[in-house]
Parts: sequence; structure tokens; C-alpha cells
Amino acid sequence: MKRLVIVGAGISGLAAAFRLQQIAPTIEITVLEQRERVGGNAWTARREGFQVEIGPNGFLDNKPTTMALCRDLGLGERLIAATEAAGRNRYLFVDGRLRALPGSFKAFVTSDLLSWRGKLNFLMERFRGRGPDRDESVDAFARRRAGREVAEVFADALVTGIHGGDPALLSIRAAFPRIATLEKQFGSVMKGLAASARQRRADAKARGEAPPRPGRMWSFREGLRLLMETLRNRLSRPPLAGVAVCRIEKQADGTWIVQGDGNDRWSADAVLLTCPAYQQAAIVQDVDRELADQLGRIAYNRIAVVALGFRRDDVRMPLDGFGYIAPQRDRRDLLGVQWCSSIFPERAPEGRVLFRALCGGWHRAEVVGWDDDRLIRAVRAELRLAMRVEAVPCYQHVVRWDRAIPQYHVGHQQRVADIEERAALHKGLFLGGNAYHGVALNDCTEQAEVLARQLSQYLV
Ligand SMILES: Cc1cc2nc3c(=O)[nH]c(=O)nc-3n(C[C@H](O)[C@H](O)[C@H](O)COP(=O)(O)OP(=O)(O)OC[C@H]3O[C@@H](n4cnc5c(N)ncnc54)[C@H](O)[C@@H]3O)c2cc1C
Repeated sequence: MKRLVIVGAGISGLAAAFRLQQIAPTIEITVLEQRERVGGNAWTARREGFQVEIGPNGFLDNKPTTMALCRDLGLGERLIAATEAAGRNRYLFVDGRLRALPGSFKAFVTSDLLSWRGKLNFLMERFRGRGPDRDESVDAFARRRAGREVAEVFADALVTGIHGGDPALLSIRAAFPRIATLEKQFGSVMKGLAASARQRRADAKARGEAPPRPGRMWSFREGLRLLMETLRNRLSRPPLAGVAVCRIEKQADGTWIVQGDGNDRWSADAVLLTCPAYQQAAIVQDVDRELADQLGRIAYNRIAVVALGFRRDDVRMPLDGFGYIAPQRDRRDLLGVQWCSSIFPERAPEGRVLFRALCGGWHRAEVVGWDDDRLIRAVRAELRLAMRVEAVPCYQHVVRWDRAIPQYHVGHQQRVADIEERAALHKGLFLGGNAYHGVALNDCTEQAEVLARQLSQYLV
């Protein structure tokens, strides 16, 4: 019987284990996890009737793999979609007040987020030619295609909302591959988006289905923790918790030894690392120093999640949306605030609301080091400014991620290709996790499927 050791029981490790178990049930899979619980970033804290997602808030249905995973685990009936209002309304905090992100052409024309010159520049995007065939930053891409204002408002908001990063450093090709591909294929992002929407409508019509809805966010009444616990329970060998892997060692016969931080060692025919890149770097250090150096160069941001609950009556705003993003050119303490109980009403008990502020990010990493009191004071000051919330919260919960989201800086795809080429020199060593091919849960579950197929080919 072939043996595989997977390091890390986040979504990447658990999904890879589950998919491989389905394809090749005879492989003995051991998942090692340094924490006492599974889930990695994705976990739901429950207290006083509030449910706080300490990492991801949910997943989108714009890629099929997480949805398919939930269904294959028998969780299809328990999925809940974000409210209509959360899908429709998003806000930006710009120049001291909340402004609606335009959801239609009419709303765009009447919005005061861009000047007339900025709007014209945006509309001219479809007439501009393709750029040079090389990677560039999100900021450079947005400026080139749609002008300075679009870069400073919309591109910054997109980067802040998804990556908590710097648009002048993040790679358009790695961080937003679809947008880069649309330019390449259609010569214009706007033309490409319109053509894809037309195609999706035509495909739905041909199948006799209703026109497709824009992507929605999904989770469970019990939060994402349900997905992680179900994955854990469905593995034929439950993950071993409390094991921090510190190194791996290649044996003369081609097998591997995986060394935990205690005296425990595991022998394996293959090893899959799904822990963060800096941990992967430490683990492969003795096997291949150059590979370790390459892995160590993938940067991470820092984020503190500050969840605050209020009595509904203490918040006068309608809370009719997903929440707001504060573009980081202003270098605010907060990246934005998600109105969790407006997205999924189950997140707060009756008569209460739950907000989740993401603080710090690439530009304000020091904020994450503030103590809880200072962090909460900063969030309350921001809520006062943006949403006129003066009341004292009835619930609070702070979580710090010292290395939260890997930052795909310009050249990331080449960096990953070099890493994969180097790792391929070591037969039986596989690298996964969110450091390479996308940070969203969907990217992790998609990549887990790819790795499960590669592992089954290698091991069976
Ligand atoms: C604040 C925040 C908000 C986010 N919001 C969203 C969102 O709304 N939607 C979305 O799609 N994505 C979101 N993401 C991104 C997404 O959550 C992550 O990319 C994804 O969960 C990463 O999963 P992973 O398994 O690759 O890594 P991780 O979740 O980091 O799991 C890695 C695991 O490896 C373990 N480990 C580390 N070192 C060792 C070792 N030496 N030995 C053994 N185990 C080890 C860790 O303890 C951890 O459990 C968010 C991320 C953060 C931080």
C-alpha cells in the first residue's frame, strides 16, 4: 500500500485528501496539522449567539469546485446563499463618506465616484489596443487601460477587497488572471466581459434555463466550519492534530521521512505540502536550499479581523448590502467592513447585527500589532465616521493573522514556474496551498483536484 503524507489541514490539504481518497481509495493518506483544529484560515467562532468567520466569509459560485465539493460531501442541501441585497449593493468609503459602487450603466453615469473625465476615460477602454505581452502591476494595467481615476478608485478597491495588498506591486496576470486574459483575447476588458455575458446567456437559453445570475457568495447556516469539519470526518484516517512538521528527508530508496516537532516521524512514498509558503520553505530547507529560498520570497500581508456586534436599534443605517471597502491609497487603519448579518442573517442573534472589520493589510501592517483595546477603538472610530454608529458594541472578537494572504507580486507566475520546476527534481514531493495559483477558496479546491489527480498518477 502506497503512503502519502499531507502537511496542513486547511481547505487545500483536506480537499486534496478527500479527492485523492475518492480516486484512489487504497492509498494510505496521513494529514498532519500543527493546530489542534482543522480548517486553517477557514473557521467559524461561535459565542453568545454570534457566528464569526475568522478568515473567509464564504465562497463564490463563479468557479464550480467548492460547490461541487460541498455537494459530494452531502452538504448541498445545507448551503445558503448571500442575501439579494448583499449581492446587489456594495459601497466604497471615499473622501469621508460611503458611496454606492455602481451596478449598472445608468448608476455609473450618475455616480460621483469618478469625474466626467474619469468616466470618459473608462468608457474609452474598449477602444484602446492591447498592451505589451509581459506581466505588469494591477495599477499599471488599470491606468493604461482605463485611466488614473479608475486605477485609484476601482482597481485599488478590488485589490484591497480581495488581496489586502498594494495595486502597484500585485501582478495583474497572477492576481486577476481572468481580467488579463480578457484583454489578451478580446483586446479590451469591457468587450470581453460583454462577450462572455452574451455567451453565458446563449448557453443558458440553449439548455432551456433561465438567464444566469451574477456570481453569488455561499456558506452554511453553521458557517464554513461545517465544510471543514465534514471534510475531516469524511477522511478514512482523521487528520493528526497538534503536529508541526519541521523537516522532510529524502531516502536512498526514493521514499520520504516526515519529521514532526516531537520525536514522531512518518515514512511516505510522497509528500504534499499545503502549509503557507514560508513554512514550506523551512520544511524543504535541508532537501534543497535553492527551492527553500524561492519559496521564502513569496510575501504575505498581515490582517486583523475585528468582529463587533451591536443592537440593531443602535444602527440607524439600512445595512442593505455587503458592506464597504476603503481603498488603500488613503492608508486607513481599516481595509473595509463586511456587514456579516446582512450577508448571512444567521450570523447574529435576533435583534442584533454583526460587522467584521478587516484591519491592516499590506500598507498598514503595524495596525495588526496594536492591542485589542486600541484595535477596537480604531474600528469604532471608523464606524462612527462611515456609518454613524455611536453605540457601545454588545459583542467583540479579535483575530490576528500575522501572515494572512500571500501577495502575488509582479513576476509571480514565473516565480511559481521556477518553484515547480525545481520541486519536480525531487520525485514524490508535491507543493500545494494558496501561495501559487489563486488565494480564493475556489482556487484552493480547484488546485486540490489537480494535485489529487497528479498524486494518484504518481502513486498508483
Ligand atoms: C482574513 C481572510 C479573509 C479571507 N476571505 C476570503 C473569502 O471571503 N473568500 C475566499 O474565497 N477566500 C478568502 N480568503 C482566502 C482563503 O481563506 C485562503 O486562501 C484559504 O483558506 C487558504 O487555505 P490553505 O489550506 O491553502 O491554507 P491555510 O488555511 O493557511 O492552511 C494551512 C494549514 O497548514 C497548517 N500548518 C502550517 N505550518 C504547518 C506545519 N509546519 N506542520 C503542520 N501543519 C502546518 C496551518 O496550521 C493550517 O491549518 C481569506 C483569507 C483571510 C486570511
